[in-house]
Amino acid sequence: MNDRAILLRPARVWTAEFDSPRSDLAVLVQDGRIVAVDSAEKRAAPDARSIDLPGMTLIPGLMDLHSHLFLYPYDETPWDAQVLKESEAYRTARAVKHARQTLEAGFTLLRDLGTEGAGYADVALKRAIDEGHVPGPRLIVTTRAIVAAGSYAPMRKNYRPDCCPHQGAEEASGADEVVRAVRHQAAHGADWIKLYADYRVGPNGETVPTFSQDELNALVAAAHDLGRPVAAHAMCDEAMKRCVHAGVDTIEHGYGGSRETFAMMAEKKIAFLPTLTVAEAISEYFYGYVPGKTPPTARMEQAANAFRLARAQGVTIGCGSDVGPFAHGTNVRELQWMVKLGMSPREALSAATSVSAQIIRRDLGQIRPNYLADLVAVPGDPTQDIGAAGRVSFVMKNGVVVRGP
Ligand SMILES: [Zn+2]
Repeated sequence: MNDRAILLRPARVWTAEFDSPRSDLAVLVQDGRIVAVDSAEKRAAPDARSIDLPGMTLIPGLMDLHSHLFLYPYDETPWDAQVLKESEAYRTARAVKHARQTLEAGFTLLRDLGTEGAGYADVALKRAIDEGHVPGPRLIVTTRAIVAAGSYAPMRKNYRPDCCPHQGAEEASGADEVVRAVRHQAAHGADWIKLYADYRVGPNGETVPTFSQDELNALVAAAHDLGRPVAAHAMCDEAMKRCVHAGVDTIEHGYGGSRETFAMMAEKKIAFLPTLTVAEAISEYFYGYVPGKTPPTARMEQAANAFRLARAQGVTIGCGSDVGPFAHGTNVRELQWMVKLGMSPREALSAATSVSAQIIRRDLGQIRPNYLADLVAVPGDPTQDIGAAGRVSFVMKNGVVVRGP
Protein backbone atom coordinates (compact mmCIF):
# COMPACT_ATOMS: atom_id res chain seq x y z
CA MET A 1 0.00 0.00 0.00
CA ASN A 2 1.00 3.59 -0.50
CA ASP A 3 -0.73 5.93 1.92
CA ARG A 4 -0.70 9.64 1.22
CA ALA A 5 2.37 11.14 2.89
CA ILE A 6 1.99 13.48 5.85
CA LEU A 7 4.33 16.42 6.41
CA LEU A 8 4.53 17.51 10.05
CA ARG A 9 5.60 21.10 10.58
CA PRO A 10 6.13 21.73 14.29
CA ALA A 11 7.83 24.78 15.82
CA ARG A 12 10.59 22.48 17.12
CA VAL A 13 11.77 18.87 16.80
CA TRP A 14 13.54 17.00 19.59
CA THR A 15 14.98 13.50 19.52
CA ALA A 16 17.63 11.99 21.80
CA GLU A 17 20.54 12.73 19.48
CA PHE A 18 19.82 16.50 19.67
CA ASP A 19 21.22 18.50 22.59
CA SER A 20 18.32 20.91 22.29
CA PRO A 21 15.25 21.13 20.07
CA ARG A 22 15.80 22.28 16.50
CA SER A 23 13.49 24.79 14.89
CA ASP A 24 14.50 24.23 11.26
CA LEU A 25 13.02 20.79 10.66
CA ALA A 26 9.94 19.19 9.17
CA VAL A 27 9.16 15.50 9.38
CA LEU A 28 7.75 13.51 6.46
CA VAL A 29 5.84 10.33 7.23
CA GLN A 30 4.50 7.65 4.91
CA ASP A 31 3.27 4.06 5.26
CA GLY A 32 3.85 4.00 9.00
CA ARG A 33 7.44 5.17 8.89
CA ILE A 34 9.44 8.35 9.08
CA VAL A 35 10.67 9.04 5.55
CA ALA A 36 12.64 12.24 6.04
CA VAL A 37 13.67 14.70 8.73
CA ASP A 38 14.59 17.75 6.82
CA SER A 39 14.83 21.49 6.76
CA ALA A 40 11.31 22.93 6.54
CA GLU A 41 12.04 25.32 3.71
CA LYS A 42 13.97 22.81 1.69
CA ARG A 43 11.47 19.99 1.81
CA ALA A 44 8.94 20.35 -0.94
CA ALA A 45 6.36 17.57 -0.75
CA PRO A 46 3.49 18.70 -2.95
CA ASP A 47 1.60 15.41 -2.62
CA ALA A 48 1.77 15.38 1.14
CA ARG A 49 -0.91 16.50 3.55
CA SER A 50 0.66 19.18 5.78
CA ILE A 51 -0.06 19.37 9.48
CA ASP A 52 1.10 22.55 11.18
CA LEU A 53 1.92 22.31 14.85
CA PRO A 54 2.65 25.94 15.80
CA GLY A 55 4.28 26.52 19.19
CA MET A 56 4.78 22.78 19.66
CA THR A 57 7.75 20.48 20.03
CA LEU A 58 7.56 17.18 18.17
CA ILE A 59 9.14 14.32 20.14
CA PRO A 60 9.18 10.53 19.71
CA GLY A 61 6.18 8.70 21.17
CA LEU A 62 6.72 8.00 24.87
CA MET A 63 7.12 4.49 26.27
CA ASP A 64 6.37 2.98 29.64
CA LEU A 65 8.09 -0.38 30.10
CA HIS A 66 6.26 -1.33 33.29
CA SER A 67 2.48 -1.15 33.15
CA HIS A 68 -0.58 -3.15 34.23
CA LEU A 69 -3.49 -2.35 31.92
CA PHE A 70 -5.67 -4.87 33.80
CA LEU A 71 -5.41 -3.02 37.11
CA TYR A 72 -6.76 0.34 38.25
CA PRO A 73 -6.07 2.43 41.35
CA TYR A 74 -6.30 0.64 44.69
CA ASP A 75 -8.01 3.56 46.40
CA GLU A 76 -10.96 2.84 44.10
CA THR A 77 -10.92 -0.97 44.53
CA PRO A 78 -8.27 -2.90 46.50
CA TRP A 79 -6.04 -5.25 44.52
CA ASP A 80 -7.47 -8.40 46.16
CA ALA A 81 -11.01 -7.38 45.22
CA GLN A 82 -10.06 -6.67 41.61
CA VAL A 83 -8.41 -10.07 41.31
CA LEU A 84 -11.00 -12.10 43.23
CA LYS A 85 -14.34 -10.44 42.46
CA GLU A 86 -14.08 -9.09 38.94
CA SER A 87 -14.51 -11.28 35.87
CA GLU A 88 -11.94 -11.35 33.12
CA ALA A 89 -14.53 -9.85 30.76
CA TYR A 90 -15.14 -6.89 33.05
CA ARG A 91 -11.44 -6.34 33.58
CA THR A 92 -10.81 -6.51 29.84
CA ALA A 93 -13.51 -3.94 29.16
CA ARG A 94 -11.79 -1.60 31.58
CA ALA A 95 -8.38 -2.39 30.05
CA VAL A 96 -9.72 -1.23 26.67
CA LYS A 97 -10.47 2.16 28.22
CA HIS A 98 -7.05 2.25 29.93
CA ALA A 99 -5.32 1.57 26.60
CA ARG A 100 -7.10 4.50 24.95
CA GLN A 101 -6.29 6.84 27.86
CA THR A 102 -2.63 5.82 27.62
CA LEU A 103 -2.37 6.46 23.88
CA GLU A 104 -4.12 9.84 24.15
CA ALA A 105 -1.54 10.83 26.80
CA GLY A 106 1.24 10.32 24.25
CA PHE A 107 2.42 6.89 25.38
CA THR A 108 2.58 4.93 22.15
CA LEU A 109 4.12 1.76 23.62
CA LEU A 110 3.68 -0.19 26.83
CA ARG A 111 5.45 -3.28 28.04
CA ASP A 112 2.60 -4.68 30.13
CA LEU A 113 4.08 -6.79 32.92
CA GLY A 114 1.33 -9.22 33.87
CA THR A 115 -2.45 -9.35 33.78
CA GLU A 116 -2.64 -9.99 37.56
CA GLY A 117 -5.12 -12.80 37.39
CA ALA A 118 -6.74 -11.92 34.05
CA GLY A 119 -5.12 -14.84 32.25
CA TYR A 120 -4.02 -14.25 28.68
CA ALA A 121 -6.39 -11.34 28.04
CA ASP A 122 -3.44 -9.06 27.26
CA VAL A 123 -2.68 -11.11 24.13
CA ALA A 124 -6.26 -10.59 22.93
CA LEU A 125 -6.17 -6.87 23.71
CA LYS A 126 -2.91 -6.49 21.82
CA ARG A 127 -4.49 -8.21 18.81
CA ALA A 128 -7.58 -5.98 18.92
CA ILE A 129 -5.35 -2.89 19.02
CA ASP A 130 -3.06 -4.11 16.23
CA GLU A 131 -6.09 -4.90 14.05
CA GLY A 132 -7.49 -1.41 14.66
CA HIS A 133 -10.68 -2.45 16.49
CA VAL A 134 -9.82 -0.34 19.55
CA PRO A 135 -7.29 2.45 20.03
CA GLY A 136 -4.24 1.81 22.17
CA PRO A 137 -0.47 1.83 22.32
CA ARG A 138 1.74 -0.87 20.86
CA LEU A 139 1.83 -3.60 23.47
CA ILE A 140 4.57 -5.94 24.55
CA VAL A 141 2.77 -8.54 26.64
CA THR A 142 3.81 -11.07 29.27
CA THR A 143 0.48 -12.86 30.02
CA ARG A 144 0.19 -14.28 33.54
CA ALA A 145 3.75 -13.76 34.94
CA ILE A 146 5.51 -16.50 36.95
CA VAL A 147 5.80 -16.69 40.74
CA ALA A 148 7.18 -19.31 43.12
CA ALA A 149 4.38 -21.46 44.57
CA GLY A 150 2.78 -19.82 47.58
CA SER A 151 4.75 -16.64 47.05
CA TYR A 152 2.28 -14.14 45.68
CA ALA A 153 -1.20 -12.86 46.28
CA PRO A 154 -4.01 -12.93 47.25
CA MET A 155 -2.20 -14.28 50.30
CA ARG A 156 -3.78 -17.52 51.44
CA LYS A 157 -3.28 -16.71 55.12
CA ASN A 158 -5.83 -13.90 54.74
CA TYR A 159 -8.59 -16.29 53.60
CA ARG A 160 -10.27 -19.48 54.82
CA PRO A 161 -7.74 -22.28 54.27
CA ASP A 162 -10.30 -24.20 52.21
CA CYS A 163 -11.02 -21.16 50.05
CA CYS A 164 -7.98 -21.47 47.68
CA PRO A 165 -8.14 -17.92 46.28
CA HIS A 166 -7.47 -17.35 42.60
CA GLN A 167 -3.85 -16.18 42.27
CA GLY A 168 -2.56 -13.07 40.49
CA ALA A 169 0.15 -15.00 38.61
CA GLU A 170 1.09 -18.54 37.57
CA GLU A 171 2.71 -20.56 40.35
CA ALA A 172 5.65 -22.87 39.69
CA SER A 173 8.25 -24.69 41.81
CA GLY A 174 11.38 -26.45 40.69
CA ALA A 175 13.25 -26.22 37.39
CA ASP A 176 10.78 -28.45 35.53
CA GLU A 177 7.74 -26.41 36.50
CA VAL A 178 9.29 -23.01 35.80
CA VAL A 179 10.42 -24.21 32.37
CA ARG A 180 6.92 -25.55 31.68
CA ALA A 181 5.38 -22.21 32.73
CA VAL A 182 7.71 -20.28 30.41
CA ARG A 183 6.85 -22.53 27.49
CA HIS A 184 3.12 -22.32 28.08
CA GLN A 185 3.15 -18.56 28.42
CA ALA A 186 5.23 -18.19 25.26
CA ALA A 187 2.83 -20.53 23.46
CA HIS A 188 -0.10 -18.35 24.56
CA GLY A 189 1.55 -15.25 23.10
CA ALA A 190 3.91 -13.80 25.71
CA ASP A 191 6.48 -11.50 24.07
CA TRP A 192 8.55 -11.27 27.27
CA ILE A 193 8.53 -13.42 30.39
CA LYS A 194 7.86 -11.70 33.72
CA LEU A 195 9.01 -13.34 36.95
CA TYR A 196 8.79 -12.37 40.60
CA ALA A 197 12.15 -13.06 42.26
CA ASP A 198 10.99 -12.01 45.72
CA TYR A 199 7.87 -11.12 47.67
CA ARG A 200 6.61 -10.20 51.15
CA VAL A 201 6.44 -13.79 52.40
CA GLY A 202 9.01 -13.73 55.23
CA PRO A 203 7.80 -14.78 58.70
CA ASN A 204 6.94 -11.16 59.56
CA GLY A 205 6.02 -10.07 56.06
CA GLU A 206 9.59 -9.23 55.10
CA THR A 207 10.57 -9.32 51.44
CA VAL A 208 12.60 -12.48 50.83
CA PRO A 209 13.87 -14.22 47.69
CA THR A 210 11.33 -16.76 46.43
CA PHE A 211 12.99 -18.60 43.55
CA SER A 212 16.30 -20.44 44.05
CA GLN A 213 19.26 -19.71 41.82
CA ASP A 214 18.71 -23.01 40.00
CA GLU A 215 15.07 -22.18 39.30
CA LEU A 216 15.97 -18.72 37.99
CA ASN A 217 18.73 -20.10 35.79
CA ALA A 218 16.37 -22.68 34.29
CA LEU A 219 13.62 -20.13 33.76
CA VAL A 220 15.84 -17.58 32.00
CA ALA A 221 17.50 -20.23 29.84
CA ALA A 222 14.12 -21.59 28.70
CA ALA A 223 12.85 -18.08 27.92
CA HIS A 224 15.96 -17.11 25.99
CA ASP A 225 15.84 -20.35 24.00
CA LEU A 226 12.37 -19.26 22.89
CA GLY A 227 13.58 -15.75 22.02
CA ARG A 228 11.76 -14.16 24.97
CA PRO A 229 13.64 -11.64 27.11
CA VAL A 230 12.99 -11.73 30.86
CA ALA A 231 11.77 -8.96 33.18
CA ALA A 232 12.31 -9.63 36.88
CA HIS A 233 10.46 -8.07 39.78
CA ALA A 234 13.09 -7.80 42.54
CA MET A 235 12.96 -5.58 45.61
CA CYS A 236 15.70 -7.01 47.85
CA ASP A 237 19.39 -7.11 47.07
CA GLU A 238 19.74 -10.90 47.27
CA ALA A 239 16.93 -11.47 44.76
CA MET A 240 18.45 -8.85 42.45
CA LYS A 241 21.84 -10.56 42.65
CA ARG A 242 20.31 -13.94 41.77
CA CYS A 243 18.56 -12.34 38.79
CA VAL A 244 21.81 -10.79 37.61
CA HIS A 245 23.55 -14.16 37.82
CA ALA A 246 20.67 -15.83 35.97
CA GLY A 247 21.03 -13.28 33.16
CA VAL A 248 17.63 -11.55 33.16
CA ASP A 249 17.21 -8.64 30.75
CA THR A 250 15.60 -6.06 33.04
CA ILE A 251 15.17 -5.63 36.79
CA GLU A 252 12.01 -3.92 38.05
CA HIS A 253 11.79 -1.79 41.25
CA GLY A 254 15.19 -2.70 42.79
CA TYR A 255 14.46 -0.54 45.84
CA GLY A 256 16.87 -2.51 48.08
CA GLY A 257 19.69 -2.78 45.55
CA SER A 258 23.27 -2.24 46.72
CA ARG A 259 25.97 -0.28 44.92
CA GLU A 260 27.68 -3.59 44.14
CA THR A 261 24.55 -5.05 42.53
CA PHE A 262 23.91 -1.98 40.37
CA ALA A 263 27.58 -2.10 39.30
CA MET A 264 27.07 -5.73 38.19
CA MET A 265 23.93 -4.71 36.30
CA ALA A 266 25.89 -1.99 34.47
CA GLU A 267 28.62 -4.46 33.60
CA LYS A 268 26.19 -7.12 32.34
CA LYS A 269 24.04 -4.50 30.57
CA ILE A 270 20.92 -5.39 32.53
CA ALA A 271 18.52 -2.45 32.36
CA PHE A 272 16.69 -0.96 35.34
CA LEU A 273 13.10 0.24 35.56
CA PRO A 274 12.89 2.27 38.77
CA THR A 275 9.05 2.49 39.22
CA LEU A 276 9.31 5.68 41.26
CA THR A 277 5.68 6.67 40.83
CA VAL A 278 4.18 3.50 42.25
CA ALA A 279 6.25 4.00 45.42
CA GLU A 280 4.50 7.35 45.78
CA ALA A 281 1.06 5.92 45.00
CA ILE A 282 1.38 3.04 47.48
CA SER A 283 2.63 5.50 50.09
CA GLU A 284 -0.47 7.64 49.55
CA TYR A 285 -2.86 4.68 49.82
CA PHE A 286 -1.33 2.83 52.76
CA TYR A 287 1.25 4.99 54.60
CA GLY A 288 -0.47 8.36 54.94
CA TYR A 289 1.73 10.20 52.46
CA VAL A 290 0.28 13.50 51.25
CA PRO A 291 2.19 15.02 48.29
CA GLY A 292 3.70 18.37 49.19
CA LYS A 293 2.62 18.07 52.83
CA THR A 294 4.25 15.06 54.49
CA PRO A 295 7.88 13.93 54.11
CA PRO A 296 8.62 11.03 51.74
CA THR A 297 7.97 7.60 53.25
CA ALA A 298 10.71 5.01 53.83
CA ARG A 299 9.56 3.24 50.67
CA MET A 300 9.89 6.42 48.60
CA GLU A 301 13.35 7.11 50.09
CA GLN A 302 14.41 3.57 49.18
CA ALA A 303 13.17 3.96 45.61
CA ALA A 304 14.92 7.33 45.29
CA ASN A 305 18.13 5.89 46.72
CA ALA A 306 18.10 2.97 44.28
CA PHE A 307 17.55 5.38 41.39
CA ARG A 308 20.55 7.49 42.44
CA LEU A 309 22.78 4.44 42.97
CA ALA A 310 21.83 3.04 39.56
CA ARG A 311 22.60 6.36 37.86
CA ALA A 312 25.93 6.67 39.64
CA GLN A 313 26.92 3.17 38.49
CA GLY A 314 25.95 3.90 34.89
CA VAL A 315 23.07 1.41 34.69
CA THR A 316 20.80 1.74 31.65
CA ILE A 317 17.61 3.31 33.03
CA GLY A 318 14.37 3.18 31.06
CA CYS A 319 10.95 4.56 31.89
CA GLY A 320 8.87 2.07 33.90
CA SER A 321 6.25 3.48 36.23
CA ASP A 322 4.17 0.44 37.30
CA VAL A 323 1.03 2.34 36.23
CA GLY A 324 -2.25 0.63 37.08
CA PRO A 325 -2.04 1.09 40.85
CA PHE A 326 -2.22 4.77 39.85
CA ALA A 327 -4.36 6.15 37.01
CA HIS A 328 -3.75 5.11 33.41
CA GLY A 329 -2.85 8.06 31.21
CA THR A 330 -0.77 9.68 33.96
CA ASN A 331 2.41 7.72 33.09
CA VAL A 332 4.25 11.02 32.65
CA ARG A 333 4.51 11.22 36.43
CA GLU A 334 7.48 8.82 36.14
CA LEU A 335 9.40 11.32 33.99
CA GLN A 336 8.61 14.06 36.46
CA TRP A 337 9.96 11.89 39.31
CA MET A 338 13.16 11.14 37.40
CA VAL A 339 13.71 14.89 36.99
CA LYS A 340 12.87 15.55 40.64
CA LEU A 341 15.54 13.01 41.60
CA GLY A 342 18.34 14.42 39.47
CA MET A 343 17.92 13.72 35.76
CA SER A 344 17.75 16.62 33.33
CA PRO A 345 14.45 16.80 31.42
CA ARG A 346 16.41 15.68 28.36
CA GLU A 347 17.71 12.58 30.13
CA ALA A 348 14.23 11.71 31.35
CA LEU A 349 12.81 12.14 27.82
CA SER A 350 15.60 9.93 26.47
CA ALA A 351 14.79 7.30 29.11
CA ALA A 352 11.19 7.22 27.88
CA THR A 353 12.11 7.21 24.17
CA SER A 354 15.48 6.08 22.76
CA VAL A 355 16.70 4.24 25.87
CA SER A 356 13.45 2.33 26.35
CA ALA A 357 13.47 1.45 22.63
CA GLN A 358 16.99 0.09 23.01
CA ILE A 359 15.86 -2.04 25.99
CA ILE A 360 13.07 -3.60 23.90
CA ARG A 361 15.24 -3.68 20.76
CA ARG A 362 12.82 -1.90 18.44
CA ASP A 363 13.21 0.67 15.65
CA LEU A 364 11.27 3.21 17.69
CA GLY A 365 12.00 6.07 20.07
CA GLN A 366 13.90 8.33 17.69
CA ILE A 367 12.94 10.75 14.97
CA ARG A 368 15.05 9.53 12.09
CA PRO A 369 14.41 8.08 8.63
CA ASN A 370 13.15 4.48 8.47
CA TYR A 371 12.05 4.45 12.11
CA LEU A 372 8.42 3.69 12.89
CA ALA A 373 6.34 6.88 12.95
CA ASP A 374 5.20 7.10 16.58
CA LEU A 375 5.28 10.83 17.30
CA VAL A 376 3.90 13.22 19.86
CA ALA A 377 3.66 17.01 20.02
CA VAL A 378 3.59 19.05 23.20
CA PRO A 379 3.27 22.82 23.71
CA GLY A 380 6.46 24.63 24.69
CA ASP A 381 9.80 22.93 25.22
CA PRO A 382 9.82 19.71 27.26
CA THR A 383 13.65 19.73 27.41
CA GLN A 384 13.35 22.87 29.56
CA ASP A 385 10.14 22.02 31.42
CA ILE A 386 9.30 18.33 31.79
CA GLY A 387 5.77 19.40 32.75
CA ALA A 388 5.19 20.08 29.05
CA ALA A 389 5.36 16.32 28.41
CA GLY A 390 2.12 16.06 30.38
CA ARG A 391 0.27 18.40 28.00
CA VAL A 392 0.22 16.27 24.88
CA SER A 393 -1.95 17.72 22.11
CA PHE A 394 -1.00 15.62 19.09
CA VAL A 395 -0.37 11.88 18.86
CA MET A 396 0.59 9.81 15.82
CA LYS A 397 1.01 6.04 16.02
CA ASN A 398 2.36 4.01 13.14
CA GLY A 399 1.96 6.98 10.83
CA VAL A 400 -1.73 7.50 11.69
CA VAL A 401 -2.95 10.59 13.56
CA VAL A 402 -4.80 9.35 16.64
CA ARG A 403 -5.16 12.69 18.38
CA GLY A 404 -5.41 15.88 16.36
CA PRO A 405 -3.71 19.20 16.94
ZN1 LIG B 1 4.28 -4.17 38.31
